[in-house]
Amino acid sequence: MLAPTTPSRPQPDSLWRALAGPAPEGAPLERDIDVEVAVIGAGYSGLAAAYALQKRGVECVVLDANPVGWGASGRNGGVVSSKFRLSFPTIDKLHGIETAKRMHRLAHDGVRVVESFVDEFKLERARFEHTGSLRCAHTERALASICAEADWVRQALGDTSMTVLSREDVTRETGSKGFVGGVLSADAGTILPLEYVRGLARGIAARGVPIYESTPVLEMRRAAGDTRVTLRTPGGTVRAKQVIVATNAYSDLTSATSKYQRELVPFRSAMIATERLPAELDARLMVENRSYTETRRMMKWFRKADGRMLFGGRDAFGKEGQMTGFDALQRAMVGLFPELAGVRVEYRWSGYVGMTFNSLPHVGRSDDATTFCLGYNGAGVAMASLLGQHAAALALGETPELALLAAPGLRPVPFHSLRAPGVRLVAAWYQFLDAVGA
Ligand SMILES: Cc1cc2nc3c(=O)[nH]c(=O)nc-3n(C[C@H](O)[C@H](O)[C@H](O)COP(=O)(O)OP(=O)(O)OC[C@H]3O[C@@H](n4cnc5c(N)ncnc54)[C@H](O)[C@@H]3O)c2cc1C
Repeated sequence: MLAPTTPSRPQPDSLWRALAGPAPEGAPLERDIDVEVAVIGAGYSGLAAAYALQKRGVECVVLDANPVGWGASGRNGGVVSSKFRLSFPTIDKLHGIETAKRMHRLAHDGVRVVESFVDEFKLERARFEHTGSLRCAHTERALASICAEADWVRQALGDTSMTVLSREDVTRETGSKGFVGGVLSADAGTILPLEYVRGLARGIAARGVPIYESTPVLEMRRAAGDTRVTLRTPGGTVRAKQVIVATNAYSDLTSATSKYQRELVPFRSAMIATERLPAELDARLMVENRSYTETRRMMKWFRKADGRMLFGGRDAFGKEGQMTGFDALQRAMVGLFPELAGVRVEYRWSGYVGMTFNSLPHVGRSDDATTFCLGYNGAGVAMASLLGQHAAALALGETPELALLAAPGLRPVPFHSLRAPGVRLVAAWYQFLDAVGA
């Protein structure tokens, strides 16, 4: 956890940081203030919440222990997707068709929010491309399963945005012979994640919302009978009628927010980016410039940016700063794209994804003055942009449509202290099943 005087940490040395250039050093809070709503966390969730408040004329501030986008929002793969980890047919089986329809709407609403932010804040530099996302099947069985899902979505939900691609199509598109076919989801795409979060912050700050960086919230308390919550930071206190906690998988930075970490199983996710590809390879690999995922349980994903190949995956075993996970990623990349064997990896970085027990994000109130949104299960670019707004609505006493995402309060993961060995065990089992093709 951050000690009270720990300075904020720089962005990890990622391709996104290199492409974005230097960020202006944001100022910390250095006085005591009173506001209507204080938002903790300057990632997509917190900034989307702040924007929703600002649009309703509600005075708010954003506080972050680090620079804007330092958490997962500045480190992710930039895959903008319109689905949850739980598939829509599974949601139907467990909760009925009406709920599946509401969840389907929410998933696509997320992409609409990204589009609207890009338009409203003129985020051309974030290079959002609505090129779709191709799920590539590694076995015939996996292909049959994703084709059945696409059929169900078409028939039961009337969504025609998913199409099945043959082995030849997927080989031509990706440049990899490692897949037997795939399913293309048209309502998806790619973005430069750090540019996106910084662009949001610039836009919101320009509309008058103060964003204090290097401002860890060290304590959150409310005296009996007090209508306001007091947030203590190293440079001053914030007294707010409502607080929105948008700290997701980094909630344990300080003890003030660490109870929100207990909703989650944090999973380390790692990425590599190659040097710029030779022109001939660049023209042959991933010609449609979509985002690509595969069907293995320990899923890998890939895309191109800046003429480079980016390859990412869950890395349950490596620790921050260790090379083992990155080497394994490079081997997996070369396994799928043998031509990349001689291509140098120039960037390696990682971050934490917030997984939840029910595989869905959670938005709710932990008490009558505090709202939280977290647990995007590795698919938060669009969803955090949407749910930050819904968290703001909840904080103001509104009742946004949340379907299965509505959390009745904080529900800590059972046996939370065993989560790290548990994650390793499950990951090892998944890797075994993937290796034997089960
Ligand atoms: C490597 C990686 C790849 C991913 N790839 C994808 C992808 O391709 N597509 C996709 O949709 N999603 C992806 N994700 C997930 C996605 O990035 C997250 O779901 C999303 O960014 C969450 O945003 P957030 O604003 O909720 O949290 P974050 O962006 O993590 O922000 C939380 C912020 O809270 C601050 N904070 C924490 N505690 C305190 C405190 N006590 N006081 C003050 N500040 C505090 C932190 O400094 C941090 O800036 C990926 C994640 C990772 C790590």
